[in-house]
Amino acid sequence: MDHIITLNAGSSSLKFGLFAASQSDPALICSGIVENIGSSSAHIRLRDRDGKSLADGVSDALRDHGAALDSILNLLQIEFPHARIAAVGHRVVHGGPNNGGPVVLTPDSLEKLRQLEPFAPLHQPVNLDGAQAAMKRFPEAKQVACFDTAFHRNHPWVNDTFALPSEFYDIGVRRYGFHGLSYEYVSGHLKETATLIHGGRVVVAHLGNGASMCAMIDGRSVGSSMGFSAMDGLPMGTRCGQLDPGVVLYLMDQCSMSADEISDLLYRRSGLLGLSGMTSDMRTLEASDAPGARNAINYFTFRIRRELGAMAAVLGGLDALVFTGGIGENSTYIRERICTDMGWLGIELDHDANADNRTVISTDLSRVTLMVVPTNEELVIARAALQLMQV
Ligand code: ADP
Repeated sequence: MDHIITLNAGSSSLKFGLFAASQSDPALICSGIVENIGSSSAHIRLRDRDGKSLADGVSDALRDHGAALDSILNLLQIEFPHARIAAVGHRVVHGGPNNGGPVVLTPDSLEKLRQLEPFAPLHQPVNLDGAQAAMKRFPEAKQVACFDTAFHRNHPWVNDTFALPSEFYDIGVRRYGFHGLSYEYVSGHLKETATLIHGGRVVVAHLGNGASMCAMIDGRSVGSSMGFSAMDGLPMGTRCGQLDPGVVLYLMDQCSMSADEISDLLYRRSGLLGLSGMTSDMRTLEASDAPGARNAINYFTFRIRRELGAMAAVLGGLDALVFTGGIGENSTYIRERICTDMGWLGIELDHDANADNRTVISTDLSRVTLMVVPTNEELVIARAALQLMQV
């Protein structure tokens, strides 16, 4: 039987899945994650599709993404020795201005995507290194790249540009938008399960370690809170979110910070971690009474509410607000904070439904339908790989 592996590399993690490719929709067999790559507490976990643990261990041999990938592939080979890998689907953060969908990777197209590394220096190189390693390990398999930017490629120009001289737009300084695989999943899920909502004016809030919001009409993206990089928009676990460019100039000129130091500050030491001075983890923040923790949550929810108002204006109204991502799917408290006193926008939260984590968490009288939809980026990657395998 043919199988598909999905790989989803973050800056210090590597998520993976194994799917059977025999049906019209890929069927999950197992999934897992390597976390804290490069540290002494690097950890590999593998679970079957029912969540039963198949492997769980700390290893200091997971020194980089290459070693993590080797460990994953060895583990999969031990657990599923008869799996025939026909395709490997890769999450690739940046597809540039032209890739509006997944592509089959060749050595040439991979080299072209390498040219986009300066646009996403923390993620693009590890994504492409993973693809290159998988090409070597499975030379017969199709390697499929699925871009986080692709879902947003039909943004109207006003949502695609900065107010810079147009030559900068021409060299790629644009608003790309990210988290596209998650938004594609949610859009497809709404189309299957809530057709009327899918056809309307929808804002999806993907709230996890990375956080962004997407405005959709008829299931297609018309605006994203993320822009040129995956740093813009909402504050995140460790990323700053929207920032006055004057701050960067000040850090350079007055604080003598180098580009690397500023990058480290804005990507790794800001957001919930920077504001709280404690942690980037929302569960820990919610459980804490420390003023820093309160500040971090206040700023997080304030910026989400502000972005929601702006997106409703872009959409000309709002029919639904959908929560997804680790925080969006699980945090009753954050959803409540976001939805409180939003009656002016037609939002009425059903507190019991919210506490029960139901799919629909708005009252019957709410003009805006509030929903919780667990995202599934791995399935989007596996579907793309299955489709391109068959071409
Ligand atoms: P990533 O962007 O790395 O995929 P996730 O989508 O898994 O991240 O989201 C991780 C975040 O979700 C963490 O801040 C975590 O604390 C938060 N989270 C997970 N479960 C809960 C919960 N029950 N309540 C509040 N926050 C939660």
